[in-house]
Order: sequence, then structure tokens, then C-alpha cells
Amino acid sequence: MGRHVLVTGGAGYIGSHACKVLAEAGYVPVTFDNLNTGWQEAVQFGPFVKGDLMNRAEIDAAFARYRPIAVMHFAALSLVGESMTNPGKYWRQNVNGALNLVEAAVAADCLNFVFSSTCATYGDQDGVVLDEDTPQRPINAYGASKQAIEAILRDFGMAYGLAHVIFRYFNVAGADPAAQIGEQHRPETHLIPLMLDAIEGRRPALTVFGDDYPTRDGTCVRDYVHVMDLVDAHVKGLEWLLAGRGNRVFCLGSGRGFTVREVIDASRAVTNRDVPIVQGARRAGDAASLVSGSTRARSELGWEPKRSTLPQMIRDALAWSRKPGYTR
Ligand code: UDP
Repeated sequence: MGRHVLVTGGAGYIGSHACKVLAEAGYVPVTFDNLNTGWQEAVQFGPFVKGDLMNRAEIDAAFARYRPIAVMHFAALSLVGESMTNPGKYWRQNVNGALNLVEAAVAADCLNFVFSSTCATYGDQDGVVLDEDTPQRPINAYGASKQAIEAILRDFGMAYGLAHVIFRYFNVAGADPAAQIGEQHRPETHLIPLMLDAIEGRRPALTVFGDDYPTRDGTCVRDYVHVMDLVDAHVKGLEWLLAGRGNRVFCLGSGRGFTVREVIDASRAVTNRDVPIVQGARRAGDAASLVSGSTRARSELGWEPKRSTLPQMIRDALAWSRKPGYTR
């Protein structure tokens, strides 16, 4: 029997990178994805089930067919801006989808669960460096929906022994260095791919959202972590669960914050090219600063980020962006 892991959202950006490292670590990643935002071309490392988390029967069928030893739950709507204009969509799909998945996992006696949560659950905290014990006060529906799923896991952990590792991601960037897979969203809303598009002439300019935040240059501060480092932590989190070490929350960030302008400067230095910029208004739902101060993943999981420097993330994202991608 293979060591199957059900990976929801395995056709998406982070999920596909997780599938790659799971396969390299000897697991069989089974992608469960509705392809609304994912790409079938990204499913290269194990079986594919086209299914929707809003459909419990489809989830049950995947558990019955593959008998996974664990779930990694990446599938979610994840756009802060959209979550502010259409909160119902976020509450319905993220929370109901996760609830269906968790109930199906318990029914199938698959009691190891790794969950993609987010630093957006913290909200805006006046530049405080964030760790696992920081109170969560989300300011957008995306973060609120993820916090609700954390609560579901806590409750199902107590009621049914569903063992769970919760990762609160900071800003994920970069791509597989082999450029087999990478970041591609439709529409793209994330800073680094949009900036590279502007540099490479695929878009006229990058709009900088807000320059009046209480930060060192007025633009938002974020903590960027390389997707390969992030998914490496997931394999460690899975092994933590399989070793019976129990429920735990881990922040995943590099521990360093950069303003939007500093990211632009780093891109200019890496590419030696100008970045066309338009100054825009603030984007609703954006916190001024989100930076991880946690050392828990390092000390308890033995996680050591290797590629999470801005130049490396930009270089890897650039190599991927220059490759014929899923729709290019
Ligand atoms: N950002 C920006 N222009 C863009 C996209 C993003 O100025 O076109 C800013 C955004 O306001 C935030 C940071 O870049 O401060 C990172 O945004 P992204 O959407 O990449 O990730 P998020 O922080 O929303 O998860």
C-alpha cells in the first residue's frame, strides 16, 4: 500500500509544489482539485481527482479509492481584495468546503490533517512581530474564514482525535527552481508576479497600493517566504503528525519584513531593469505590516529556510515567468 496523501488544491500554486516534494519524500500525493483556479498541467507528481469540496460525495469517493494516511488542505479562495467585496463567497466556500473535508476525513478514519492557514488571521497589529501566541484579529473575510477553519480543526481534534498541524503562512513567493511548476493565477493579483510582468512588458505598470501606511516608506511591509521552503515545512509537519506528536500551530515566515518599495528595488537589482510603477490608493483589507517573529518551526520541526531571500525568490519567479507556462 502506497503512502497516499490527499492534497486538496494540488493543482494550485502552493499545492503543486507540495505534491512535488511529497513525491520526492516517498509519498503518493493525490490531488483533489476543482480546477477553478488550479491547472491540470500542474498535476505531475501523482493521481488526479477532479472534485469539489462543496460536494461531500466526491470527497468520500476520493478517501474510499485512495485510503490516504493524511490530508493536506490547500484548496481555498485566497484573495484579500476579493474577500472584501464578496465576503459571502469566502465564508461559503472556504468554511463549508473545509467542514465537508474534515467530516469526510473523520468518517474515513484519516486522522492526520495539515492545514494552510495565514498571517491574515492576525489582522493589523501596529507592526507587532507576530508569532503563534499573538491574538488573531482578522480584518478581512479571507483571514476570518481561515480563522474559522482553525477553530473547526480544534473542535474536531477534541471530539474525534483529528490530529492537525496548522501552518500560518506569511507571503509565499518564488517557484520550483527546476521551473516544472510555478505561480500562475487568473487573474494574477500578487505583487511579485505582477511586478515581473511589468518589468518584462507583459503589463504596462505595477500599481503600488497605498503610500500612507505607518511604515518606513509608507508602503505595506510583508514577510516573504520561498514556496520550496514552505512546502518543505509541510513534509516536516506531516512527519510530525505521523510520529504522533499531536496538534500544533506553526508560523512560516522568513522573519524579515520588506516594504513594497523594497521589493521593487530588489527586483530592479536582480533584473537590472526598470520597474514601471503607478501609485495607487490603498487596497481594502490590507494590514500595514505582517512579519513573523516565530522560531517555533525551526526549533520544533527542524525547518531551515534555504531560498527565502528576496533576490532568490525573484530569480526563481523570473525563470518560471519566462518559461511557457500553463496558459502562455
Ligand atoms: N501590492 C501592490 N500592488 C499589487 C499587488 C500587491 O502594491 O499590484 C501590495 C499589497 O498591497 C500588499 C503586498 O503588495 O501590501 C503583497 O500583496 P499580495 O497580493 O502579493 O499578497 P497578500 O499580502 O495580499 O497576501
